Amino acid sequence: MGFRRYENRPLAWHLATPVSVSEMRRRGWVVMARCQACQLDLRIDMDLMARLNGPDLVLFGRTCRCRRMGCAGRMFFMGTPPGQQVGLFWRLRKPDGSRPAL
Ligand SMILES: [Zn+2]
Repeated sequence: MGFRRYENRPLAWHLATPVSVSEMRRRGWVVMARCQACQLDLRIDMDLMARLNGPDLVLFGRTCRCRRMGCAGRMFFMGTPPGQQVGLFWRLRKPDGSRPAL
């Protein structure tokens, strides 16, 4: 069995397989953050993210402070895995332990 290209793997596999920001960048993910309080959407620069927080940072299941002035909300991360429709984002959750079928 050979290596299966990332863009040919199913959405459920990508969403259940947390990887670091450097690996997400390598695989071609597009990532954004959304505030749960004010709905602000921000595109995440993966180069900057890896430089500021280290290449091993994992965004799945994490939140960060909202970047809008005066908002006390938290932002969660969403992503478009390689091979998926550009412009559609899925929430990056911490997997519950169950593994999707390949
Ligand atoms: Zn906010």
